[in-house]
Amino acid sequence: MSSEAAAGTQGSSAALRAGRRGLLFIVSAPSGTGKTTLVERLVHVLPNLCMSRSYTSRSARDGERDGVDYNFITRARFDEMVREDAFLEFADVFGNCYGTAAADTDALLAEGKDVMLVIDVQGAKQVRTRGIETVGIFVLPPSATVLEQRLRGRSKDSEDQIRKRLDTACREVGEFASYEYVVVNDELEAAVDRLRSIVLAERARVKSMRPTADTIIKTFKRK
Ligand code: 5GP
Repeated sequence: MSSEAAAGTQGSSAALRAGRRGLLFIVSAPSGTGKTTLVERLVHVLPNLCMSRSYTSRSARDGERDGVDYNFITRARFDEMVREDAFLEFADVFGNCYGTAAADTDALLAEGKDVMLVIDVQGAKQVRTRGIETVGIFVLPPSATVLEQRLRGRSKDSEDQIRKRLDTACREVGEFASYEYVVVNDELEAAVDRLRSIVLAERARVKSMRPTADTIIKTFKRK
């Protein structure tokens, strides 16, 4: 790798990724905060970052595609994967099972890709308990009122479901201090920009940049 390449785009080029394991980000937020939209936007604009695809026992909603939005599986298959210890983490969220396959995440990280797990607070706790190095980002809505308006505005849920989501949100927001970063999703583009800054800052840490820095340092050795 040339020093010019090394000095380049801070971890987004293939050359720079060589020998570098990806970073594992966890993004959690109460339902309706818009975390999935945020992360999808970020993945679209930032090279070498991907969103992990979860497995779920819930059925696909209109417009959702198997293998794209989620891996949709039966409850029986989900339970089997739990028994096989295939999940890095899994949780029951609003009566459905969701999980992140350890092998899928590991393959992406091994390729040098930075991975974002968009998972609930229970799943985030499990990953931390495993002692895996992660960067946690908690996304907050600007207020409880705004969250309620957003949940009602998307008209996906019944009144009962909205109540449940708001009750769960009341518990979940208290978890923000277990994460490394907080992003308030007040305005989509601004929030994407904050999220992007976090990823870039984490990529610039010495431990992430060491292979690149070592390559540059070698060019300083006198012949
Ligand atoms: P939805 O059914 O609306 O797509 O997702 C419901 C909730 O499940 C969201 O809060 C989302 O973050 C969470 N979720 C999605 N995938 C996973 C996963 O793999 N693990 C965990 N723990 N939560 C997940």
